[in-house]
Amino acid sequence: MLNNQIALFDVTDFEDEVIEKPDLDSYDYVIVAMSGGKDSLAAVLDLIEAGVPRSKIEMWHHSVDGRGDDANPLFDWPVTESYCEKLAEALGIPIYFSWKQGGLEGEMLREDAYTRPTSFETPDGTFQSGGDSGKKATRRKFPQLAASLSTRWCSAYLKVDPASKAITGQTRFAHKRTLFVTGERAEESSARSKYKTFEPHRTDRRHGRSKRHVDHYRPVHSWEEQQVWDIIERHRINPHPAYKLGWGRLSCMTCIFGSASQWASVKAIDPDRFERIASYEDEFGVTIHRTQSVRERVASAQPYDTLDPELVKVAMSTEYKEPIFVDDWKLPAGAFGESSGPT
Ligand code: SF4
Repeated sequence: MLNNQIALFDVTDFEDEVIEKPDLDSYDYVIVAMSGGKDSLAAVLDLIEAGVPRSKIEMWHHSVDGRGDDANPLFDWPVTESYCEKLAEALGIPIYFSWKQGGLEGEMLREDAYTRPTSFETPDGTFQSGGDSGKKATRRKFPQLAASLSTRWCSAYLKVDPASKAITGQTRFAHKRTLFVTGERAEESSARSKYKTFEPHRTDRRHGRSKRHVDHYRPVHSWEEQQVWDIIERHRINPHPAYKLGWGRLSCMTCIFGSASQWASVKAIDPDRFERIASYEDEFGVTIHRTQSVRERVASAQPYDTLDPELVKVAMSTEYKEPIFVDDWKLPAGAFGESSGPT
């Protein structure tokens, strides 16, 4: 078995500088990394409540499975991209997508090859970066369960790196002040509790020739889950359908951190996708979980009892047709529930 996995970068290598909460008025651009989940939604709503003009805000969604002709749908919820598009439209905020060509599945199947290029949308069109340098290497196994982004490479390659490439690849950010906003909360895990609320972003070059000033802000870092649902209710926003199906956290549908009940639920609503994951475990000879295959995990687990067929249809469609704003807002079934996901 070939297992020379590749470290993209050491993401713990942030500049160790303590800075206070940002002066939101001082930025030219405010970019919100929007997964479609409750925490990034809470972050954008918090900026709106704080008075940041929507004309300054952009949502950036990193398409984990790739996009368009470059897509390999295996990990993410089919409806997520469309939900994010409709959400952005309803809030009056532009949205830009970025993705590694071939998506997570393509990177996982990499064999003696460079990592594939990243594509990113901008106000001036779609551009691409990378794919022709670095080290040729082989993965042929799932990202491993760990807090370190070098081992759990999916977040680094499919989210952190595309965002960085989309910033460094656009001259509009030179000689400007940009705030990059993400929705991690301390309550989610001990690893996340150590993240700073505010720090220079990894693409910051304020002292370099480009004078590209980029700060990273986590406005909901200290929030409890109740505060997150409260702000979503205040704005009467219909949460992503996965929450209504019982998921407590919106990560990939087949997230490597999925609990046994989540894998059982995936199997119940999309047996073909479950089988593809299980077959890859067989083929690689390495399971996602340290000791059990997904087949073994679902054998003793029950799917959620909230898998309403109509809701399943909404979550498994590539077009979100439900309203974004709802009058009869209800806390979804997954709220305060099991929230297995990235550490
Ligand atoms: S949601 Fe899970 S599988 Fe998807 S990129 Fe994040 S850690 Fe990886």
